[in-house]
Amino acid sequence: MSVSKNQSTIFPKGEPAPADYFVGKAWVKFLVQSDDTFNTSIGNVVFEPGARNNWHKHGGGQILIVTDGEGYYQEKGKPIQIIRKGDVIKILPGVKHWHGASRDHEMTHIAVNTNTQKGIVEWLEQVTDEEYNALK
Ligand code: MN
Repeated sequence: MSVSKNQSTIFPKGEPAPADYFVGKAWVKFLVQSDDTFNTSIGNVVFEPGARNNWHKHGGGQILIVTDGEGYYQEKGKPIQIIRKGDVIKILPGVKHWHGASRDHEMTHIAVNTNTQKGIVEWLEQVTDEEYNALK
């Protein structure tokens, strides 16, 4: 008897991530919508192997909490970092970066967008296959 992996996840998978800003398949479930009291939005994001978001910046910063799998995180001009379940990544306001699954594993993270009054996200160009595969 096999048990579907999805049954062990914490949150519903949500809706397909916008194809304009992602390469590969990802799903987003919004957990907290920003308001004037908290200035914070929170979403759960599931990336299939090979999936990643475009290069982007957060005007108010972002914190990623990896809850499952293995993925990649890269800031512009720095090497790709491998991120795994239990890792917490603090992304300073205005830092150009991307995040996604590794080539062979799914990755799920909770994305906490802080100080949203300073801007939530500015989407930029796609992460090319060459950039994505730079980690040997
Ligand atoms: Mn981000």
